[in-house]
Amino acid sequence: MSAFDKVIGYEKEKEELLQVCDMANHPEKYAALGVKLPHGVLLYGEPGVGKTLMATAFLEMMNRKSYVCRKDQSNEEFVDSIRELFAEAKKNAPSVIFLDDLDKFASDSESSNPEELIAVQSGIDSVKDSNVFVIATANDVRGLPRPLRRPGRFDRILEICLPNRRESVEIVRHYLADKKVASDVRAEEVARLMDGNSCAALESVLNEAGIYAGYENKPEIGREHIVRAVLRNVFEAEESVNEMSAAEKEEVAFHEAGHAVAALAFDRESVGLVSVRPSKSDARGVVQILKRDNYFGSYELMHQRVVALLAGKAAVELRYGRIDVGAVSDIDRASAIVQRFIGDYAVSGFGLYHMENRFSIDSGTQNDKIVAERSAMVARCYEEAKVLLRENWAFLEKLAAELVKKDTLLYEEIIAMRNDAGNAA
Ligand code: ADP
Ligand code: ZN
Repeated sequence: MSAFDKVIGYEKEKEELLQVCDMANHPEKYAALGVKLPHGVLLYGEPGVGKTLMATAFLEMMNRKSYVCRKDQSNEEFVDSIRELFAEAKKNAPSVIFLDDLDKFASDSESSNPEELIAVQSGIDSVKDSNVFVIATANDVRGLPRPLRRPGRFDRILEICLPNRRESVEIVRHYLADKKVASDVRAEEVARLMDGNSCAALESVLNEAGIYAGYENKPEIGREHIVRAVLRNVFEAEESVNEMSAAEKEEVAFHEAGHAVAALAFDRESVGLVSVRPSKSDARGVVQILKRDNYFGSYELMHQRVVALLAGKAAVELRYGRIDVGAVSDIDRASAIVQRFIGDYAVSGFGLYHMENRFSIDSGTQNDKIVAERSAMVARCYEEAKVLLRENWAFLEKLAAELVKKDTLLYEEIIAMRNDAGNAA
């Protein structure tokens, strides 16, 4: 039984931390090999991915006196307490210091107190030869001044990424284990809904779902509670569609189904959820595109993303023969991506390539050309979206009709409908 068992997934990172523990706990083994021990480890990554959890497990595994430093005091007192902490840790060596959320204090940003950074840096240097190990966490490693990150202060810098799908499933199972859940709740489905979110986000969604179930006096958390919590916490969707008229709802259903049908035409696995619940950020509903972070990986993926973004508008306009006024943010996003094609990747020739203002040649004319090229490219993608939707019209109508009936559809329902529509065609 290792303290790291409570950290789910992250096998490589845990292995790396265990190696450091082994060095600290069996220095003679490494000294015999002539190896110098590392002095510090820095874990960085988005909030809620388990950095503090990992660091805490590390403290346990180090099996020596530990000192935790976290900013929760006013500046003056805090600088003193940093100094005292390092002095104490040194006096009681072997020991380990944990600097939690280091980028919240030891930073060179204008808002932070430079004394704190100095106290941390000189603290680390003062314990260098005293068998004191330092572990720190940070959300944004770039927020930490370079000198602080150099080897000798932090010899190992590990990125803690968002969990992958397999890890998410494990994490979901873990959190479901101590809750009363109905038999229709499946870990794989919940993990898919939480695609690209942190463990902490997952924890709060499941908790929220539990609150809904309790309030309804249900003995178990059901799938519908989890979907509701995901819609609210992850997609920031309104609680209900009550405000909409039947005609509005149908239009939103066509818009969202348009996005989904286009995305599925490119990648049969790409849509996790579609809903007509109005999202707070957009005027329309919600579509969850899985693996959405990857689309800058290639020109094809970016192009597909633009077509899918414009397919909401295309669906409404094909269906009703009038302008879709709910597609403003879709058009903005599509245009921003296209601008990147032109400006960063020179897909329309090098004349429109932008050099980050390194030198500006008559930028007025160049801007006009970029705008013209961008609009032409967005318009072409919009036409492609229309072609795709016409080819998949039966599926589109079916999806929109189901959305009107059920408000929200999940991956498996969407896949089943797509297969049916495919067979009928
Ligand atoms: P961070 O320090 O990266 O912001 P925390 O360590 O505070 O994140 O984790 C936030 C919450 O999520 C905690 O309740 C923690 O127990 C849980 N958690 C995060 N990652 C994991 C994981 N890999 N396994 C189990 N629980 C996790
Ligand atoms: Zn849209």
